[in-house]
Amino acid sequence: MQIGVLALQGAFIEHEKMLARLGVSSLEIRQEKDLDTPFDGLIIPGGESTVQGKLLRELNLFDRIKTMLEAGLPVFGTCAGLLLLAKKIKNDDRTHLATMDIAAVRNAYGRQLGSFYTEKEFKGIGTIPMTFIRAPYIENVWNDTEILAEADGHIVAARQKNQLVTAFHPELNDNLSVHKYFIQMINDKHIDNSEVNKNA
Ligand code: GLN
Repeated sequence: MQIGVLALQGAFIEHEKMLARLGVSSLEIRQEKDLDTPFDGLIIPGGESTVQGKLLRELNLFDRIKTMLEAGLPVFGTCAGLLLLAKKIKNDDRTHLATMDIAAVRNAYGRQLGSFYTEKEFKGIGTIPMTFIRAPYIENVWNDTEILAEADGHIVAARQKNQLVTAFHPELNDNLSVHKYFIQMINDKHIDNSEVNKNA
C-alpha cells in the first residue's frame, strides 16, 4: 500500500512519520506529475486552507485530485484538510475540493481558545488524544455523513464513504489509531458501494 500525502504546505511530514511507523510508504504530492504514480489513498494535512487551495489550483492539481476523490479514492483531511473537503465553509466566501457533505466553521474556537488539547471518544476506536490548532469544527453534516467524534459540543470528526476528516491533528500525538482507521478504510474500499448508491 502507498498513501499520497499532499505536500504543498503544512504538517505533511508528521503524517509521513505516522505512516512509516505503520509500515506504509508515502508518496509526496507536490506537482502534477506526482499524480501519475499510483497510490491507494490521500492525506490532506493541516496548515492553511486558503494557501493550500491556491497552490492546488496554481499547480494544476485541483481538477485531477477532485476527480480522483469523486471516483472514490479514500481521503483523510486533518484541520485545513477538513476545510479543503467541506462543501460549505460558513465563514469563508470560497470552498475548495468540496467533495464532502459537511459544513465547517473556520478558526472556530476564537483567539483565546485557538489551540487546545483534550481526550474524547472516537466512534469505533475509543478515547483518543486530540490536539486542536486554530481548528475548524463541523457545524452540521448531511446525507450519509457519519459523525465520529465531538468535543466541546461540536463535531470534530466525520466520515462519508471513503472520506474521513478530523478537526484535530492525530499526527501530532503518539497515538496511531486514527491513521490505522484510515488504512482500514482503504482496505475495506471494495465493500464500499458508492457506485451502487449513486445509481440507486
Ligand atoms: N486555521 C487554518 C485554516 O483556516 C487551519 C489550521 C490548521 O490546519 N491547523 O486553514
